Amino acid sequence: MTLAKNHNFKDKVVVITGAGGVLCAYFAKEIAKTGAKVALLDINLESAQKFAAEISAQGYIAKAYKTNVLELDSIKQTRDAIAADFGTCDILINGAGGNNLKATTDNEFHELDLPPATKSFFDLDKAGIEFVFNLNYLGTLLPIQVFAKDMVGKKGANIINISSMNAYTPLTKIPAYSGAKAAISNFTQWLAVHFSHVGIRCNAIAPGFLVSNQNRALLFDAEGKPTARAHKILTNTPMGRFGEASELMGGILFLMDEEYASFINGVILPIDGGFSAYSGV
Ligand code: NAD
Repeated sequence: MTLAKNHNFKDKVVVITGAGGVLCAYFAKEIAKTGAKVALLDINLESAQKFAAEISAQGYIAKAYKTNVLELDSIKQTRDAIAADFGTCDILINGAGGNNLKATTDNEFHELDLPPATKSFFDLDKAGIEFVFNLNYLGTLLPIQVFAKDMVGKKGANIINISSMNAYTPLTKIPAYSGAKAAISNFTQWLAVHFSHVGIRCNAIAPGFLVSNQNRALLFDAEGKPTARAHKILTNTPMGRFGEASELMGGILFLMDEEYASFINGVILPIDGGFSAYSGV
């Protein structure tokens, strides 16, 4: 990956939530190569520390901070620690997010004759639904409340949220995650307008279907052949393949970079091999 050489974020403070996870750890590693000081925030400190150590070992600047994006006090403590270590935030990437099984139906369609043990829409757990909405929506809004205060009036300040294909058309089985990501797209546009007089741009990426450690078993059988769900995804992705985490990186760096994207504000950038453009016909 040589994208970093096209961008110079020397001495910029880049705060990334969910940076102990698959995608945002990857973002953190690549962004650090641009000269930025990268703060890796995660509720799972051990994981964020592991990635921060890898970045530091390569000679770049990074530090991990245990943070719960659902607790204002926790975010504020982290804000103060980062300010003391690196200075205040220039760019915020809100990556903490995800789904929960308790907010997921077993079947794609409700039927007249579902077996009684089936977890249908009517069995979805209120706490599970709240968990998903809170993690994705509040878990994006609260860090912005804390970090964007320091970003007001700063040259090049911007925020990147992580939406999803779900935000355009909901995927089957996961109504809460779909709704929460639709809310993220909507909120991204709201913020872009709200902060437009104080110099903070706000955009989002909407990743298509990537193979990650978490979904590999759902997408490929023991022989490495695509499962039925994987086949459906590939059929509906005009480019006919899954994406790689590395293929999100160009979009992230582009949106972050004032030299490239100074007039880009309120955009939800699909990075999806054409999935969101395709009706299937
Ligand atoms: P991941 O599960 O690997 O990482 C998420 C991280 O968030 C984890 O390290 C977790 O510990 C952390 N986290 C969870 N709750 C937290 C909290 N309360 N406070 C702080 N940190 C918390 O997920 P990922 O695949 O890297 O996804 C990152 C983002 O991209 C998420 O918003 C996800 O919804 C979105 N996304 C992922 C995909 C994909 O294919 N992987 C596709 C579209 C969108």
